[in-house]
Parts: sequence; C-alpha cells; structure tokens
Amino acid sequence: MKITEYLSKNKISFDTSGGEIVIWCPFCQKTHLSGMKIITFHINPENGKGSCQDCQKQSDFAELVKELKSAPVVMGVSEGVLEFQTSKSEVKNQSEQEEPLIEEEPEEVIDISQFKR
Ligand SMILES: [Zn+2]
Repeated sequence: MKITEYLSKNKISFDTSGGEIVIWCPFCQKTHLSGMKIITFHINPENGKGSCQDCQKQSDFAELVKELKSAPVVMGVSEGVLEFQTSKSEVKNQSEQEEPLIEEEPEEVIDISQFKR
C-alpha cells in the first residue's frame, strides 16, 4: 500500500505539491479561524519522511500515523510502500485454513439392560 492509498483509506485529506504529499499537521494542528484544517505537513512519498512548514516538526510516516491515531499501525516506508506490523492475529486472518470441524461425538447410549431385574 502506498502512502496516498493509506491516507484515502483513513479518510485523511491530502494534496500533492512538487512531488510531495501534503497533509494536515497533527503536531501543530493548524486551522483557519473557521475551523477548516490547513495542510502544512509535507511528506516524501518515497521514504515517508516529512516535516511541517509551520511548526517545523520533523517526523517519519510511522510516527505520523501514531499521532494521527490511524490504523493499521505503520512500521516504516520502503520505496514508497508502507510496511505494517504483522501481528499473530493478522497472520491467522490471512491464512485460508479453516479450523477443522470438531466431529460430534455420538451420544452415549446407556445400556439399561443391566439394570433390569
Ligand atoms: Zn506543524
């Protein structure tokens, strides 16, 4: 997944400027008086490193995602492709193996003949 795809998926609005991705800075949270968000954080789409033109905060994409509280958690960016943490539960979801059906045990039939007189 690319950074832009990730942003779209998380409904984070962005713009592109001079080959960079520009988003709203979660560190200084710059807004217009109207409350409209001002995008000031420039990200390099190749390595995910970026900086804010307003508060000068420098951050890589993994840190940015943490600050934005987006999901899934990003571990890093390699050649423009996001790297995600692979947790055990995700691995389980990815496998197509279905849990084996538990064979129903046949109901135990009690031989009552022995209780008969
Ligand atoms: Zn900022």
